[in-house]
Amino acid sequence: MNCAEFRTRLHPYVDGELPVSETAAADAHGVECRACAELARSEREFRRVLRRQPRDVAPPELRARIVGRVRRQARWRSVPTSSWSADARKGIATSFRETSRHGRWCGAPAS
Ligand SMILES: [Zn+2]
Repeated sequence: MNCAEFRTRLHPYVDGELPVSETAAADAHGVECRACAELARSEREFRRVLRRQPRDVAPPELRARIVGRVRRQARWRSVPTSSWSADARKGIATSFRETSRHGRWCGAPAS
């Protein structure tokens, strides 16, 4: 294996996804070539650092709000609009109008 072949296979190599024969060839090249060995070492270190990064988790309050909103929307979708009361339809129309006017939802309009 030469440097170009090694570098083409670098990512699957460091991820352990190369066939055994290619892994052996890449290992052998890394023994002979300091530059490619350093490249592989650096790539492994980068992956190790990424794995150690904390995962972003939504605060419980935000998570509960999102789950609640998704559930409400799912419930809305399962109810035919023809069964909505006149007040519900009027409220939705008002909300839509207010949202369109302000570019976003700004709370209930003043009555
Ligand atoms: Zn090399």
